[in-house]
Amino acid sequence: MELVLASRNKKKVEELRRILKDLPVKILSVNDFPHLEEVVEDGETFEENALKKARYVCKKTGLPALSDDSGLEVEALGGKPGVKSARYAGEEATDEENIRKLLKELEGLPTEKRSAQFVCCLALVMPSGEEYLFWGYVKGRISDNPIGSKGFGYDPVFIPDGYEITFAQMESEEKDALSHRRKAIDKFKQFLLELPNFYKQNLS
Ligand code: IMP
Repeated sequence: MELVLASRNKKKVEELRRILKDLPVKILSVNDFPHLEEVVEDGETFEENALKKARYVCKKTGLPALSDDSGLEVEALGGKPGVKSARYAGEEATDEENIRKLLKELEGLPTEKRSAQFVCCLALVMPSGEEYLFWGYVKGRISDNPIGSKGFGYDPVFIPDGYEITFAQMESEEKDALSHRRKAIDKFKQFLLELPNFYKQNLS
């Protein structure tokens, strides 16, 4: 079975390949299809954005397409930055600017009011029109200050439950093992394994 990942991010493609390496699935990415255009992520929800990308790629390639949308939800902010995580402080905002805005909004809030979660929604769209969603979450809290230099995005201010360090202080393997993306991909893998006749259909 061939599957197109609707992402140009090499790290995401490699991660998916690693996790699905023992399955008969060949992972392609949109980089293998130069004629594909960028899909604007203008949905109101993670689900809308993920489905929009996967539907477009499936339609253009005729192959099953998988896409992801992810972000950070902070309880005290009613779920913001949410789908706007990448551009919280403005369209061209850097990670540092987004973090600064977030910390300012949470200024003075005690630890117990700084709960947050990372969310990942994976959408699978099949040429037959069938659509499936797989969700992954990691709960934690927002630190008072950025700490650590690894990772990306909000990693320097996110402390996962059960830890006293931020995602940006962890080795990438440690973060990858508990991340929202990993949990969603694990569900997707389980789904493939449970598909009736998956091996028979795809190995022949
Ligand atoms: P995307 O779904 O990869 O486009 O991610 C959307 C935005 O959510 C990113 O630009 C980050 O700001 C934030 N984000 C998503 N996943 C993570 C993560 O694992 N660590 C830190 N920030 C993340």
